[in-house]
Amino acid sequence: MALIVQKYGGTSVGSIEKIRAVAERVIRTAEQGNQMVVVLSAMAGQTDGLIRLAYGLTEDPDPRELDVLMSTGEQVSVALFAIAAKSMGRDARSLLGFQVGIHTDHLFGKARIHDIETGRIIRNLEQGRIVTVAGFQGINDHGDITTLGRGGSDTTAVALAAALTADVCEIYTDVDGVYTTDPHICPKARKMDSIAYDEMLEMASLGAKVLEIRSVEFAKKFDVPIHVRSTFTNERGTMVVAETKDMEKVAVSGVAYNKNEARVTIHKVPDRPGIASLIFDPVFRAGIVVDMIVQNTSQDGLTDLTFTVPKTDFYKTMKIVSDVAANIGAERVLGDEDIAKVSIIGVGMRTHAGVAKKMFETLAKENINIMMISTSEIKISCVIEEKYTELAVRVLHSAFGLDVDKGES
Ligand code: ASP
Ligand code: MG
Repeated sequence: MALIVQKYGGTSVGSIEKIRAVAERVIRTAEQGNQMVVVLSAMAGQTDGLIRLAYGLTEDPDPRELDVLMSTGEQVSVALFAIAAKSMGRDARSLLGFQVGIHTDHLFGKARIHDIETGRIIRNLEQGRIVTVAGFQGINDHGDITTLGRGGSDTTAVALAAALTADVCEIYTDVDGVYTTDPHICPKARKMDSIAYDEMLEMASLGAKVLEIRSVEFAKKFDVPIHVRSTFTNERGTMVVAETKDMEKVAVSGVAYNKNEARVTIHKVPDRPGIASLIFDPVFRAGIVVDMIVQNTSQDGLTDLTFTVPKTDFYKTMKIVSDVAANIGAERVLGDEDIAKVSIIGVGMRTHAGVAKKMFETLAKENINIMMISTSEIKISCVIEEKYTELAVRVLHSAFGLDVDKGES
């Protein structure tokens, strides 16, 4: 008998019919002799709808009450699931975050789980019940409801799987696995059989939205294997697991892109100690997350500094940086919103040579200009003009041998 944690996302429980289908699927697996813990998201669109209601009242809803409100979406799903399962003759019990004892810190809206009690879940499992747990929510030590941040039900599932030492954590979604790149822009994208935690973290941070990033960090830390698969088929999906020797055989496992960043350049910055901190301090203090930073070697004591920020923070950043630039006597500040970051990712990069060269050559062949480059052990990113994103992704995918073989699908 295995203990299986399954998580179903919003589209998988988006209607009464879908909830019934999920219940049937869970019962089938239970009847093969498995203990089942089922984490659910809110029905598709519900969380957004609840947030809209609050913002209909004020621009600045109280964070505590917003969490009380948002957590109701998942409450609806687990109740309906348990009702469905029971109507099919199988005992089931819904539990909210506070009833389980999912303890978090105090940060409303993006709380972190620090401890999970397993007693109540285990007692229910031992009585032969299917246990369904509301995703995305916990309780802080004042007894207040907290939520874990958008997409947080993934983290609930992985954290429960770790706490219960489950045999597997299955994340059911509306895609059938993790792809080598976005299939919407690259028809030759291929479903991966497995991907290393670190690769998944890079893919997720670049906008491959299959798994919430914190759930992958959690899985890595506690070594929980995740199986990402489709709710609507029985096919095997993609395993997100610890790195294996095999994974190093290929240099590049995936191509990702991000169109949500903008570029800011400060020209002719006086090159002396303390300048970078003068420039970035107010940016950081405004809560703006800076991604790439490039500084040129200086000429005549002046240098250029370029960095990227989320597009949503572009105007705020330009304003802050223009003020600082004036203060420190830099020549001017230029911004560019029409950029994209294209990245190749793979743990195999550590042991393969010439990967960067091949990436640059591939882009050059298409006449795509590279504006910025950054590298890590398992990733190379290039900033290019936004209009070339799709082309860049496709040619890189092909150059690194990721295209799906003919005949395969
Ligand atoms: N319902 C929450 C959201 O929409 C959590 C989740 O679905 O994972 O972000
Ligand atoms: Mg999700």
